[in-house]
Amino acid sequence: MQEAINHKQKRMLRLVKSTKAIRSEHKPMIDSEDYYKQVERYADQIRKTRNADEIIRILDVVLSETRGLKFSDEVFAAQEQVKRAERKIELLKGELEQLRGLVQTDQMTGAFNRRGLDEIFKREAARADRNAQSLGVVLIDLDNFKKINDNFGHQYGDSVLINLVTVAKETLRPSDIVARFGGEEFVILLPEVELEDALTIIQRLQNNLGKNFSLQIDNQSMPVTFSAGVALRSFGEHQNSVISRADKALYQAKRAGKNRAIPALT
Ligand code: GH3
Ligand code: MG
Ligand code: MG
Repeated sequence: MQEAINHKQKRMLRLVKSTKAIRSEHKPMIDSEDYYKQVERYADQIRKTRNADEIIRILDVVLSETRGLKFSDEVFAAQEQVKRAERKIELLKGELEQLRGLVQTDQMTGAFNRRGLDEIFKREAARADRNAQSLGVVLIDLDNFKKINDNFGHQYGDSVLINLVTVAKETLRPSDIVARFGGEEFVILLPEVELEDALTIIQRLQNNLGKNFSLQIDNQSMPVTFSAGVALRSFGEHQNSVISRADKALYQAKRAGKNRAIPALT
């Protein structure tokens, strides 16, 4: 009887030991067929997606999995080939990141373009919802821009737009986003701000722009100004909805005499 228990205990011990042994081997061995199947699955995922961010994410997974693989002898022999593949994936990822930057940027001002704004808005909105944080959405429109073009020429008008983006980037936090919404209209995203702070930030931008640039029209010095509608995105609110609220406030700012920022209604 005693012997029987001992035998049973010994078996249990062995079982416990073998489970531990399996656990400590964090990556199973794979052979080349498994590896190529896995790569093919990722390639298929990449083919199906049109989003550069998503492709870069998949490439990151492929890279880290390739680096963490424990190869069987067969694949081990092809280690060099795998290293070359790894370098190619890295290169491809770099090119893709560069391309994404170009596709999402307004060439003239260096601000994000509409496509860039769409991508970033999705990312920032998801982050805001996930962490129950606010997201300030500001629509700005330069005042009397037609007059600037008419008096100083289109090229000068262009330099005013470029300057606005430069001053905005200098004034805002690195995590804030400046995007050209069209013509002489821009959207600024301010993560984690309250309405009061957002209004203060935009007024600071107004001041910095005024200091930086003024025009001589009809023998008068005129600062470059803009009007703004400032909205706080509510939980789950779509981009079009919050921009439309900011646009209504912007319209109020124009009607009230321009060169001001007005908070949007919720
Ligand atoms: P308001 O104060 O009411 O906004 O008047 P505004 O003159 O700024 O507005 P309006 O919409 O009448 O004119 C905008 C002008 O912006 C017209 C268009 O020619 C000019 N514009 C749009 N895109 C560009 C650009 O890339 N470069 C230059 N120089 N001008 C542009
Ligand atoms: Mg306009
Ligand atoms: Mg304008």
